Amino acid sequence: MDGGRKRGSGLQAPGSGLKSEARSPKPESGNLDRRDFLKKCGAAGAALLWVIRVAGAEADTRAGHKASDHLYGMAIDPAKCIGCGRCMEACKAENDVPAGSGTCRTWVERYTMTTDGQTIVQSLDGAGAGPPVDEKRILRTFFVPKLCNQCANPPCVQVCPVGATFSTPDGVVLVDKDYCIGCRYCIQACPYGARYLDPRTHTADKCTFCYHRITKGLAPACVEVCPAGARIFGELRDRNSPLARYLRFSKLQVLKPHLNTEPKVYYANLDGEVR
Ligand code: SF4
Ligand code: SF4
Repeated sequence: MDGGRKRGSGLQAPGSGLKSEARSPKPESGNLDRRDFLKKCGAAGAALLWVIRVAGAEADTRAGHKASDHLYGMAIDPAKCIGCGRCMEACKAENDVPAGSGTCRTWVERYTMTTDGQTIVQSLDGAGAGPPVDEKRILRTFFVPKLCNQCANPPCVQVCPVGATFSTPDGVVLVDKDYCIGCRYCIQACPYGARYLDPRTHTADKCTFCYHRITKGLAPACVEVCPAGARIFGELRDRNSPLARYLRFSKLQVLKPHLNTEPKVYYANLDGEVR
């Protein structure tokens, strides 16, 4: 599938090259224009530019939302996840994510440990599902919800040649579709398989923590619908927020910590087999 992912392995499907004829022309040097603009306008210009970029990426933030007052993160408790997939459905509906297994902003992986020592990873959305595992071989199973980790040191932002992918001051990585040229560099660079190419717009897409909701004080759709409370979203800077308290009192880790991407999605009591 165009822009699809191979889940479970964290590897990307190989890119198939840029097909630009179906798209309207995009600016090819957007980041250079912005740099010039910033030089001329200084800090005030930077703030204005950020507002413009957010409008292009995820419009409709709450009036008066001051991004620098916030830093958003999420905790996930795999032990609570029952694999119902409601988070995936809610995300697709909320964010108009195209149907299909290769296009998901969030997905849930089922880890199966077998009696012969194998670990089999299958995504509930069907990507890389493989054949069903014989029940007699199953030692234990558990579910791990995944999404963009909103990395503080994001390789996807670093490789984007036109500056279409950027970090907001409140810690969310967004894509400005007006500037994305669909080159797939960010899809290849993300070590978590969190991005896909939208087959309708031929631009990169991924989880935004439901930026249009959180900037209005609402929870992301996946968090709101989870019947098990497996996803905890909130403020990282506020020591008294439910998320900050949860992080203080849980044994947490991030995915692929050796890559120094500094994720802001934290997993509680993660099994050593999860990658
Ligand atoms: Fe970028 Fe991937 Fe990190 Fe999300 S998880 S910020 S897409 S590198
Ligand atoms: Fe797991 Fe909650 Fe998603 Fe259901 S909605 S699959 S319990 S994270």
